[in-house]
Formats: sequence, C-alpha cells, structure tokens
Amino acid sequence: KHIYTKTTKIYTSHIPKQPIPEESVFTNIFSTRFNNFPSTKPAFIDASTGRVLTRGELKDLSFQLGYGLRSQFPSQGGYPLQRGDTIMIFSPNSIGWPIMVFGSIAAGLKVTMANSAYTPRELEHQWKDSGAKVVFVHPSLINTIHELFKILKLDASEAKKRIIIANWGLDPSLPTGGYTQIGDLLGKGALKEEEKFNGKLARQETAYLCYSSGTTGKPKGVETTHYNLVSIPSIIGPVFPRSADGSDVLIGVLPFYHVYGAVMLIQFPLAIGTPVIIMQKFDPNLFCASIEKYKVTMALVVPPICLALVHHPATTKYNMKSLRILTSAAAPLSPSLVNTTRSKLASVGADVMINQGYGLTETSPSTHYLEPQDSLKKIGSVGRLLANEEARLVNDDVDDAKEGEPGELWIRGPNIMKGYLNNQAATKDSITPDGWFKTGDVAVRDSEGYFFIVDRRKELIKYKGFQVPPAELEAVLIQHPEIVDVAVIGVHSEKDATELPRAYVVHAKGTKGAPADFPKRVQKWTEQRVAKHKFLRGGVVVLDAIPKSEAGKILRRELRERAKKEVIPE
Ligand code: AMP
Repeated sequence: KHIYTKTTKIYTSHIPKQPIPEESVFTNIFSTRFNNFPSTKPAFIDASTGRVLTRGELKDLSFQLGYGLRSQFPSQGGYPLQRGDTIMIFSPNSIGWPIMVFGSIAAGLKVTMANSAYTPRELEHQWKDSGAKVVFVHPSLINTIHELFKILKLDASEAKKRIIIANWGLDPSLPTGGYTQIGDLLGKGALKEEEKFNGKLARQETAYLCYSSGTTGKPKGVETTHYNLVSIPSIIGPVFPRSADGSDVLIGVLPFYHVYGAVMLIQFPLAIGTPVIIMQKFDPNLFCASIEKYKVTMALVVPPICLALVHHPATTKYNMKSLRILTSAAAPLSPSLVNTTRSKLASVGADVMINQGYGLTETSPSTHYLEPQDSLKKIGSVGRLLANEEARLVNDDVDDAKEGEPGELWIRGPNIMKGYLNNQAATKDSITPDGWFKTGDVAVRDSEGYFFIVDRRKELIKYKGFQVPPAELEAVLIQHPEIVDVAVIGVHSEKDATELPRAYVVHAKGTKGAPADFPKRVQKWTEQRVAKHKFLRGGVVVLDAIPKSEAGKILRRELRERAKKEVIPE
C-alpha cells in the first residue's frame, strides 16, 4: 500500500478552479488589483493614534522605501542590499508594517518576520538561519538587537550598517539609538517599478520567510514564494464574505509576524479593498472601542480572544453592533466557545456569525474556510477546501482513511510552500514527491465536504495560536543543572481556551531526591530564557524516567494520556 496506488482518494474543492497569475506579489497587489479602488481609500488605520495610511500613500511610500533601501541606505553607510537578500522585521504590529513589507518586496528583497517577544537567543537562530542582512527594529526592541549583535560579535559599526529603526508613523520621541530611521530613507527618490518575479520566477523565488517548527524539531524557515502569496486572493476570494456596498472594515489584532497576520491582515485586505484597523496587541478595551469607532464589520481572531469577549466588561461598554463576522483560526475553537461568544454578543445587540479558517504557515496560510452562512449548521468545522486545493486523509498504514473516519490531512495546492530553507531533509519529510504536504493534523471529513480537525499528530504545541515547539523548550531545559532528561507536551486548558506547555523532567537525584520547590524553580528559570508564550504555564512534573521508544524517541502520546489524569497547577 503506497501513496501512488490507484485507490488514492483525492478530495477537491467545491469551488471551480481559479486562474493564478504568475507574477510577483507586489505586481499582483499594486498593479493588478489596486486600481479597482480609489487611492484615497484608507488601507490601514492605527487604532491607538488614528493615523490613516491610504492605498495611494502606501503604494508611493513602498516605492520610496524600496529606493531608499537599495540606493539611499548604502550611501548612508548601510549594508548594500541586493535583489534576493533577506531583511528582517522585528516589531510588534504598527502602521509602518505594510510599508516595510512592500517597500522590501518592491526592492526585490525577501522578508523574514520575527516574533517580537523573542529573546536574543531565540532571535539568533532565525537571524543566522535566514541569512538576514539588515533588520527593521521597533524602538522598544533595540536592546534585544544589541544583545543579539553581541552574541554574533557584530560591533557598533556593523550594527550601524544593519539596523533601521521601524518608527514610521509612531511617536517621534521613541528612542532611535542614532541609527538610520525609516523616515531617513523616504522622500529621496522612488523606484520606477518594482523588481519583477514573473513566470517561472514567481514559483521559485521566496518572498516571505516565516518560521515554523512543522511537525518536529526547531523552527525552520518556511519558503513562501511569490506564487504562493499571489494564489491566496484567488483561492479564498470566491468564498470570503464581502458586503455589496464595500463598507467592510477589518480589525487587525493578530501579530503580523505570523503568516496569518502577514497574509490575511496585510496582503489579502489590500487585494479586496478592505481597510484594516491595526492594533499593536490585543487589548479588550481598545479592541471594542475600535469596533465602535470604525464600525468594524469583521475580526480575525484566535480562540482566547473569543473568551476575552465573553468575560471582559469592554464588550458591554461599547457599541458592537457593526460586527458581523468573527473568524477564528490558528488553534482549535470549541463549539461551546462559539455558542457562549455568540450569546454574549447577542446580549449587546450584535448578531455575529462565528466561523473558522484553517491552515498553516506552510500553506501561506489558508486551506479551509467555513463560510459564515454555514457557521451554525457546521459548528466546530474548519469548513471546506478553498479553490484549487486538494486533500487526502491518510491513516497509519499510509492508506486512505475510510469515508467519515479520521486520517492525517495532506494538502496539495498552489499555496504549499516551496520548502524549508536550507533543510532538504525536513522538506522531504513533509512534502511527498507528488506534492502532498503532510499537515500533522488529524481530520475527519463529513459527507458534505466539511472538515473537522480532531487531533494533532505532530509535536507542536499552540499557546493562544503561537507556536511552541517542544524541541526548543527541551533544548533549553536540558541545560538546567539539576535536569538529566526532559519532554515537553501541551495540555489543554478549557478555562483559557488554549493549550499550555507542560514539562516532564527527570531530576538528577530521581523523584525522591528532587527538592519540593524544584518544579517552581524550573518554571522561573525557564522564564528568564524564553519568550512569554513558551512559559511552562502547564506546570512541571518530575518523573523517574521519560517514556521512550526503543529507538529513543519520546513517547509523547503516553505523556498526553498521563496528562489527562493530572490537574493543571495554578
Ligand atoms: P501555524 O503554522 O503557526 O499557523 O500553525 C498551524 C497549526 O495550527 C495547524 O497545523 C493546526 O494544528 C493549528 N490550527 C490552525 N488553524 C486551526 C483551526 N481552525 N483549528 C484547529 N487547529 C488549527
């Protein structure tokens, strides 16, 4: 039994196949689609300052920044960036983000987005692995970059060459450290046209490098090509809800460094002409106040945001009636949370459909979407396949799962990444020779073509939609002087609507010899070494031995079974 047998059951989308242009993402957005909307229409609005970036301004500033990066920056002593080089963005969401992304893309650069909560050590991996030459850094994060450069042994003159302060549209009194600022690169000239990646190049050339651990191991650079990105408006466009009068407004609270934000809150809204209200981070008051102020019609969220809307007083303080659709993705959303969120919003007069999207960094990101009109009928489902998507459900024997039975979800489509950067082995493990990408998620498909994610076969833990790769935490924990072996898994918390990372550790003196305060100390120790979303909120449990297979592989399933019987410590 093999993947090439004729019995292979391939599920296809209910939507007719869409044409996908072979062009760069810049050309796709700014030349092809941009002209359908007036250039004076707001593209992005900063929720905290009210600063508006119109579509016309974004296009002009992107050409200016592209020119600034290629011509102006080197003449000011900056690194001479060339087409194909990689630039990093290390910043929480800001109104300057779209300019950084599209200015870089116009200049022919690849963009690698880093989690703004990363510690210097976490950032080191991405900096080295991505081969980034220059970083756009938010003023509040300069110290992390200084620490990073210390680790990399890059001195002050090197730092000057490689740092650009990402403070466009922000408070000018924020520290700049004397480095080049985005403003220094604007207004000096503009590219006549963007660097083109047409035809074959669109399929080959990487545009974004987001980091994902995939099914196993440490974060890897996901090579998202121009063609992958260009495919997104084509494959989601036909099912994405839009009002007839063009009055839709999206609120962008998810991090732009995650592919979900980078594509669904920056690129896709530009393609469909929908303005996005940008929030630096989720704050229930500002979120609800912005819904009222800007008459937001749609929000893309993660499950814990639904939970916050249920419990936070802000939901009843502001007028939420404009809100029509709340789309959750990036982590499982339980039917009970859909119901409680809907009732809470109904109690303040907002009739909101709560639906889901599904996908992965490796799928740029969307493969499934539950259309709002199906959201009650198919509660709990991630929806049907998007246009041009094919799926298989594969059981443990690498054979087709029977109709209605669970199997690992494999996807084929124009949005499947090119591969993991500099990691042929991981690419080969995750994409079959005939193009099937193995998601590591277990799904069931009902007879009407709706998919339900029922389990995760891969190691990955998701804390509030953020990736927590166990291998990364394990590599940190094993350095603890008292720990001789370790395994990290995710435990589900209904209360927080998320998974929490839990460590199972072996103390050098065994369970009997481990001091009583050891688990708490390990939690604290870890908190000094990793980003916040990786904190061991699920607790630390001391074992005599980590269950392993004969080959030495951690038996995570056994630990997950064990965890079901344990109580999550507060
Ligand atoms: P990321 O690459 O960070 O976007 O993570 C992708 C993973 O998030 C998927 O493989 C799933 O395990 C999980 N995921 C994404 N969307 C959903 C969803 N709607 N329901 C359940 N899990 C999801």
